[in-house]
Amino acid sequence: MDPSRLHEAVATWFNRHGRALPWRDPSVGAWGVLVSEVMLQQTPVARVLPVWREWMARWPAPADLAGASTAEVLRTWGRLGYPRRALRLQQAAGVIATEHDGVVPGTEEELRRLPGVGEYTAAAVVAFAYRGRAVVLDTNVRRVLARLVGGEALPAPSLTMAERARAVAVLPDAAAESARWNAAVMELGALVCTARAPACTGCPVADQCAWLAAGRPADRHAHRRRRQPWEGTDRQARGSLMAALRNSRAPVPAEDLARAWPHAEQRRRALRTLVADGLAEHSPAGYHLPGFTQRRDGAQPRDGAQGRDAGGALGPSRDPAASAGGGAVGSRCEQ
Ligand code: SF4
Repeated sequence: MDPSRLHEAVATWFNRHGRALPWRDPSVGAWGVLVSEVMLQQTPVARVLPVWREWMARWPAPADLAGASTAEVLRTWGRLGYPRRALRLQQAAGVIATEHDGVVPGTEEELRRLPGVGEYTAAAVVAFAYRGRAVVLDTNVRRVLARLVGGEALPAPSLTMAERARAVAVLPDAAAESARWNAAVMELGALVCTARAPACTGCPVADQCAWLAAGRPADRHAHRRRRQPWEGTDRQARGSLMAALRNSRAPVPAEDLARAWPHAEQRRRALRTLVADGLAEHSPAGYHLPGFTQRRDGAQPRDGAQGRDAGGALGPSRDPAASAGGGAVGSRCEQ
């Protein structure tokens, strides 16, 4: 394989077909890129777009988010799922504001010291915000490289040393070119070399693809992949209960939460873990998002909001992406 021919083919395709996503605009600073990368973990672009726009309008700088009410942060996060990401992002904003003069750090080492920022996110911020040379390995990039270079249907369930070495081997030497390559390969995986239906016929590197040349062999890791269930899981219970708390501006009595999740034992367990994760608090008046001060007669919102929203949905969530699960930071969604 000739890396320079590969780089040129992918870059030409990206120039023509890459999406004009707002966080790719050169005027968006490192803060906007960091926010987008955290939101895109396990969440599709279409869901992230409106939340990212609102988020950046409300909290255009790390100090703005650091000083916001956590309840409002979680409400704005809404149904993106894995809301612990929102808490970590607010904590990271606090560190950036106080320890980095409000400027998102520009090295992977410094970035990885921020709450909630793992290997992938740090590399992505260096590449996409600072146009630095970094090995950005998300789900899309891993899949493209596994097929194109490795000749495999899909990469192993967990990132391997061999994959990392393969990614380093094809990364352009020049910083600007490597940043472009990272964005272009990621986009190729999102739009063309998709997990279920790779569009090899229109692929700009079909003539260089090892998997295609090998006759598209089957996934040799298939037996190791776990399908994540959703219906009836604790994740679904947490998502439904979080939706009920987001939709209320006052504490929700425990008995009212039975409408959000009828199974009593699972509901109690989910509430316990939400409180332990810092996503909910409990007062004599009921459960609520963080951001209420305790009073003898119950709880009082600190963020100035009073009363319950009309029409707040208290029914079980049907949406896996609205989960209040822990969120494996570092796994970007496929599109
Ligand atoms: S030819 Fe097919 S499998 Fe190979 S990189 Fe392109 S879309 Fe993916």
